[in-house]
Amino acid sequence: MMQQDPIVDRFIRYVKIDTESDPNNPEFPSTQKQWTLAKMLAEELKEIGMQEVDLDKNCYIMASLPSNLDYKVPVIGFVAHIDTSPDFSGKNVNPQIHPNYDGSDIVLNKALNIVLSPSYFESLERYVGQTIITTDGTTLLGADDKAGVTEIVSAMEYLIKHPEIKHGKIRICFTPDEEVGKGAHLFDVDKFGADWAYTMDGSEIGELEYENFNAASASVSIAGKIVHPGYAKGKMINSISIAHEFMAMLPANEVPEQTTGYEGFFHLHHLEGSVEKTTLEYIIRDHDFDLFEKRKYLIQRIATDLNNKYGNNLIEVTIKDQYFNMKEKITPVMHIVDIAEAVIKEKGITPMIKAIRGGTDGSQLSFKGLPCPNIFAGGHNFHGRYEYIPVESMLKATEVIVGIAEKVALEFRGK
Ligand SMILES: [Zn+2]
Repeated sequence: MMQQDPIVDRFIRYVKIDTESDPNNPEFPSTQKQWTLAKMLAEELKEIGMQEVDLDKNCYIMASLPSNLDYKVPVIGFVAHIDTSPDFSGKNVNPQIHPNYDGSDIVLNKALNIVLSPSYFESLERYVGQTIITTDGTTLLGADDKAGVTEIVSAMEYLIKHPEIKHGKIRICFTPDEEVGKGAHLFDVDKFGADWAYTMDGSEIGELEYENFNAASASVSIAGKIVHPGYAKGKMINSISIAHEFMAMLPANEVPEQTTGYEGFFHLHHLEGSVEKTTLEYIIRDHDFDLFEKRKYLIQRIATDLNNKYGNNLIEVTIKDQYFNMKEKITPVMHIVDIAEAVIKEKGITPMIKAIRGGTDGSQLSFKGLPCPNIFAGGHNFHGRYEYIPVESMLKATEVIVGIAEKVALEFRGK
């Protein structure tokens, strides 16, 4: 049914356009170059026959595929992001196509001796016989999330060309700045007008996610007092030593490098100190809301205990919530996950339902009133030079989008 070549061509066209976002620019979108792909996509959506194509002033592209049913069903949406991660260069992406992968090392760059090897990246072994798209070793690929964009556009084109496939109204949206945590910020959920949506932004084939971390940041500032070290007895307060004490009062094994699955953590990601002042920057993560609240409380309590010990309120803590577990918003509408899971199975794929150890735009959208689980887009090793994607996975993701549209039309018939 679905053809490989047009999907590959489309994907290659998108990844060649540099859309790297910038965490240090408060403007929106954070980089002007994202407009290049946004404008191109808006034109392309019109060309393939999408309706209500709209590129707004914040660089969000929305479009509609009207219903071809004579009865009403919920409006569903599909969302992907156009920017790539600032963690690694997205400039001059030069994708390499490796047809009929034989399971051996893939030389990404001979001159620089960069090799993508299944002995290190075991996931490659699953794709023997398939067509793998890689980088040339000098940039990321941008399958995160141009694969998602490709799949959504290709699925819409397929539905337009196959009017015999019956579906309700479908809304699509491509967002900027997801990689800098702002993809959902200016997303106009009312204008989008869908009952629910799916982000096509997961990794390997089969992934389906509707749980993510609750997330907060904690900034700990510790004041000290500098005195000549030779005459410091009873006078000097060394904020570095107090910081050390603070760190030691947190559970040593609840850190990213020692936790997995549903285990939460405290992650100290930045420390800056002198005798006079030391700051500790933490992120706090937990899927369970009560445990999340307890973690925030523990940070506060340690600060209080140390303030009581040393006096003078030397320690100040600022905790900021960042995002919340979408599970709370998805569980009441669990059929939206069940539909996706059923379609994934129908396409002969084993669903891999797991909790995200991070956040997605979908979690923010869910809290803005648009329940939004995440579906695989097919890529691996995001945000770096070893990023790759099997074409067959992109094809399957495209079929899943079409399948969900069909299934919603069937399931809600006569309801
Ligand atoms: Zn992504």
